[in-house]
Formats: sequence, C-alpha cells, structure tokens
Amino acid sequence: MLIELGVTTSFLRRAVLMDRDGTLIEDLGYLNEPERVRLLPGVAPALRQLRAAGFGIVVVSNQSGLWRKRITQKQHLAVHAAMIEILRGERIELNGAFYCPHGPGQGCGCRKPEPGLLLRAAERLSLSLPECWMVGDKESDLEAARSAGCRPLRADKFLGAASAIAAS
Ligand SMILES: [Mg+2]
Ligand SMILES: [Zn+2]
Repeated sequence: MLIELGVTTSFLRRAVLMDRDGTLIEDLGYLNEPERVRLLPGVAPALRQLRAAGFGIVVVSNQSGLWRKRITQKQHLAVHAAMIEILRGERIELNGAFYCPHGPGQGCGCRKPEPGLLLRAAERLSLSLPECWMVGDKESDLEAARSAGCRPLRADKFLGAASAIAAS
C-alpha cells in the first residue's frame, strides 16, 4: 500500500506534482532526521507563484529506505511533518503527499517510474493529469509523468519555467 499524508479535500484539476528528494528538498539519501530537512533554493517562491495561479502542490516520492529499514515509519512521518512545517513557514500549503514505501523489484505499481503515485493523486484530488506537471530530478520521475499522461519537467528547469507555467 502506498502512503497518503495530508490529502486536502479540494477539487484541483491543475497541480504541480513534485518529487521530494533532490527536487523540493535537499537529497541527503535515506533522510531520517527531521532537523536536516532543507528546501532547495528558489523552490519556495516558485511554488507560491504556482499556488497563486491556482495550481495545487502535491508531493510524489519513492521512499525505498522504508523497505530497506534505513528509515522507520516514525522517522518518515517526522521528516514529512518537518517539511510541512517549513513549507507553512513559507506560506505554502501542500495538497497532499503520496509516498511509495517499497523497494526495487517488488513489483508494486507505485514506485516511480511506475505511474501509481500520480494516478492515486489524480484520483484523490480530481486532477486532470494532462494539465498537470510532474517535476523531478531523475529519469524515473519523467518516465512516471509520461506513463501517467502528465507533463514531465526536469527539476533543473523548474525555477526557469515556473512563471510561464503559472501564466498558462
Ligand atoms: Mg529525486
Ligand atoms: Zn510502491
């Protein structure tokens, strides 16, 4: 089962689906310490701009550290809570986070590049995936976007593209 946290009840249609590690926050590898959560530079203003334009903000993230026992459930929740708190401090509300707790080769449908996290987000938030963007730093993020019928965007292009997306 994938993990859903903080899903809002809003009907969104358009959203930016953000990979977490290396896209939204620093990728520290199997992050299990909430005090080490750091937003990447420039991401907060870009997300505020997108929210102001009516885009929902959703996190979709592989967390195989749970399966590898490098991260406990409790640590995972604490890291999520720290991220939410930091985003709140930046006046950014998330519309939900969807995490895959499985490992490679387990055959789950949610570990990116599989589209399961995106499809679940779409179902829960009434997203129209062809009108959504999936931002990620790995090829598996972009592949998941394509399989889900959503627009792929590389994390290193995100800051440059945010204004144009917000204006679209
Ligand atoms: Mg990543
Ligand atoms: Zn999975």
